[in-house]
Amino acid sequence: MTELQQVFDESPIAIYTCDHNGYVTFYNRAAVALWGRAPQIGKDLWCGSWKIYFPDGRPMPLDTCPMALTLKERIPYENRRITIERPDGSFRNLRVFPRPLFDSNGRLTGAHNTLIDVTETHEQDIRNAMLAAIVESSDDAIISKNLDGTITSWNRGAERIFGYSQDEIIGKPITTLIPLSRRNEEHRIIDSIKDGRKVDHFQTMRCHKAGHEIIVSLTVSPIKDANENIVGASKIARDITDQVKAQEIIKRYTENLETLNAIGKGISEKLDIEAILQRVTEATTKITGAAFGAFFYNIDAVEHEAFTIYVTSGIRPISFEKISIPRNLAIFHPTFKGQGALRLHDITGDPRFSEYPTHFGLPEQYPRVVSYLSMPVILNSGIVIGGLFFGHPEPGKFTSEHEDIIGSIASQVAVALDNAQLFERVRLLSAQKDEFIAIASHELKTPLTSVKGFLQVLTKRQQNDVERRFLEKSLIQVERLNTLVDDMLNMSKIEAGKLEFNIETFDMSDLVQDIVGTFKHTHATHKIVSEVPPAPVFVEADKQRIEQAMINLIGNAIKYSPNADLVNVKLFRSNESLTFSVEDYGIGLTEEQQQKAFLRFYRADGNKGISGLGLGLYLTKQIVDRHDGSLKVSSKFGAGSTFYFTLPLSRSKQ
Ligand code: ADP
Repeated sequence: MTELQQVFDESPIAIYTCDHNGYVTFYNRAAVALWGRAPQIGKDLWCGSWKIYFPDGRPMPLDTCPMALTLKERIPYENRRITIERPDGSFRNLRVFPRPLFDSNGRLTGAHNTLIDVTETHEQDIRNAMLAAIVESSDDAIISKNLDGTITSWNRGAERIFGYSQDEIIGKPITTLIPLSRRNEEHRIIDSIKDGRKVDHFQTMRCHKAGHEIIVSLTVSPIKDANENIVGASKIARDITDQVKAQEIIKRYTENLETLNAIGKGISEKLDIEAILQRVTEATTKITGAAFGAFFYNIDAVEHEAFTIYVTSGIRPISFEKISIPRNLAIFHPTFKGQGALRLHDITGDPRFSEYPTHFGLPEQYPRVVSYLSMPVILNSGIVIGGLFFGHPEPGKFTSEHEDIIGSIASQVAVALDNAQLFERVRLLSAQKDEFIAIASHELKTPLTSVKGFLQVLTKRQQNDVERRFLEKSLIQVERLNTLVDDMLNMSKIEAGKLEFNIETFDMSDLVQDIVGTFKHTHATHKIVSEVPPAPVFVEADKQRIEQAMINLIGNAIKYSPNADLVNVKLFRSNESLTFSVEDYGIGLTEEQQQKAFLRFYRADGNKGISGLGLGLYLTKQIVDRHDGSLKVSSKFGAGSTFYFTLPLSRSKQ
């Protein structure tokens, strides 16, 4: 081997030669390594490769390989790209440089070829191309900048989001995109990047070329050079304006829905018209973002049209007094006539408003009305009971969304007002009824007192047995009548919240014994056995009412045990309370009857023939409750009942 051949043989670059017929005449070690095989000198044609392909993967016929062409056409076929397959199945990408060789006479003697393995670079190229394609096709803005904040690359997504073309923006400072108020953010971002920290999904605002602001989600990562030095930053910005707006809309809808529910619940529970209107006016003014809202209420809706300002929000009602008869303004007509919502972007441009060109009839210091929204409130009966009105000094403040929501609220208000009016009427009737009962009771009691007095005078005179029995019976009946009238009066007083209590301290044992004594005297049909503590039991209570409660219970025990003849009355005390009980062996009450026994006007089935109004137990319960006590019953149907109440011995409140 010549010295020169030795140099070639040891060169790290693959080299081989062919004679003018194309037979391989020489190859070095690097070529063998590249081909993965050693060709046979003088036998292999044009090349030592096992298989050859075009760069796009098509098989390349051997006689058209660059070396073959060089020999055929006697010209160099330099820097051609081929792909070879080695016997082990692996592929390499090569750049080849075949050149013809001529002797001193210019005759073709052969050719040499240099093979450069570009497989790695090739793969990198593909990766780069793919990356570039991804960056280009991304919907997000992908931007890089150096550490001075100068923009160094700009994809199509960035162009779409920010409006600048690549040519316009590359080389410009990144602050071009940052609103003045947010410039500090950039310093913080650069500081993070210099520390090698990534900024992830940071929501902020950026400027579009056209001047408007865009809401973006930013991810900024450091860019490092081959030596791991941070040389810049890549920014991915996603335009989330629509997304944020959609979220805001959903949030607003949810809030509105919640307010709507709250209003609905609030007003359906209320029966006071003023409270309903106040709440509705305040809530709707808030929902619409109006500078002020008002409710005009038609006080006398059935007979006339008499709309008066009822409540306002954001403005004092007094301000509206300037509008003497609001319904006379043409602008109010659609509302007071119940023609539906009226929403004006700018009321000042509406001819109907010409009568009050600036302030909607308000004093000067109040905001001008420019945006206008009104909604009639129509009752089930079709009567326009009022209207909701909103105003704002800026134009276009009210949207169709506001109109919808105010419309739903107006329907709820109408239902609530219907109920409130109904309630008002019932309250009025009830007051009239109470008044009637009070007068009637008084009128009944006057003759009753006289009759009782006359009867008592008669009992003092000489009588025979029959006369005495009749007198006693008459007195019992008069007493019953008296109790009934009292019960009626008391019930009506309780209903009106007017039942008064006179609290005094007295001995309960004494009272029980007194009452039992009277019963024994007047009711011979039953034996009344009483049991009271030996020592006095002092309580603070309304003696007369407690007496009434006890009489009711003992009276019932006798009345509802026609076939028995024993009633047990007991009073016993514990440390802090006393219990009074009345036990009978009469008709008793079922479970269900026991549940209802204390209701007003309740009379159990099965007591037919026994007279009563169904008020005694109701009143007894009210009396006991008002003394902080509790009235209960335990009973067995057909076997008898025990009614008992417990009272605290000393009372904190009265
Ligand atoms: P009234 O006796 O005027 O009907 P009350 O309010 O005193 O009204 O009693 C309500 C109902 O409870 C009575 O109609 C009766 O059906 C039942 N009741 C009350 N006390 C007794 C009792 N001791 N035994 C059985 N039922 C009773």
